[in-house]
Amino acid sequence: MSELVLETEKIDKIYKLGGRRIRALSDINLKVKRGDFVSIMGPSGSGKTTLLNVLGCLDRPTSGKVILDGVDVTALPEKELYKIRRYKVGFVFQTFNLLPYLSALENVELPMEGTGKSKREMRERARELLKLVGLAEREDHKPLRLSAGEQQRVAIARALANNPSIVLADEPTGNLDAKTKYEIVRLLGKLNAEHGTTIVMVTHDGAIASHARRVLFLSDGKLLVKEKMGLLAKEKLVCPACGREVQVEHAFCPHCGRKL
Ligand code: ADP
Ligand code: MG
Repeated sequence: MSELVLETEKIDKIYKLGGRRIRALSDINLKVKRGDFVSIMGPSGSGKTTLLNVLGCLDRPTSGKVILDGVDVTALPEKELYKIRRYKVGFVFQTFNLLPYLSALENVELPMEGTGKSKREMRERARELLKLVGLAEREDHKPLRLSAGEQQRVAIARALANNPSIVLADEPTGNLDAKTKYEIVRLLGKLNAEHGTTIVMVTHDGAIASHARRVLFLSDGKLLVKEKMGLLAKEKLVCPACGREVQVEHAFCPHCGRKL
């Protein structure tokens, strides 16, 4: 299998709106290796959601190619794309998008329906994933009985259900308070560092973006040439309680003692 999970060649996206053309993406060339955690930072309206939707086959580019796990997905018919979305890509959204009438466990099981897994296998996998995101005790709770941060943890577990090649997260901390947003980005960092999960996250929040391995910048639909090394690449992580530096291997914050 290729070292590159995701590659784009000269992506353009033009929306036509009431006779007007809006160029949301322009000549995007991006390469994401297996095991990377890339954040793409840009202000509101810079094209972040459009880019993520095109990368995840929720939308097609106007021109250019998206190559996912060595397959040019831009050439595939719609009925093939749904398989890619289901098996290759895990999505995490700003608004969590959990089904309110299902429990945490059932929300995580949902993407596995119809994939050939037995009920019991689905349940085991969902339990394992809720444990991984620190929610083993909450599996029977409906989303409304979970905090915003817990809901996002469930959504992250759901994104991992079919063991995707890549997780795409659109402003995953956008609806969270200051403390919780660090917990969530730290969880993404942990999944990347300890389980090799490949992640592309878009955000307008520079402090959140800096937690990745690499930080890229999007401006007016264009990816800038500059790139920054993120904290994870330097093995620098920040305690969600006191904001001071901690290491990936720390179980407790050496400064304030909080369990990490
Ligand atoms: P971001 O996520 O960075 O805020 P978006 O990708 O949502 O940016 O939007 C980029 C640009 O494309 C904006 O100018 C936005 O108004 C425009 N846009 C987004 N979606 C559509 C659409 N469906 N139709 C027309 N214009 C759109
Ligand atoms: Mg957006």
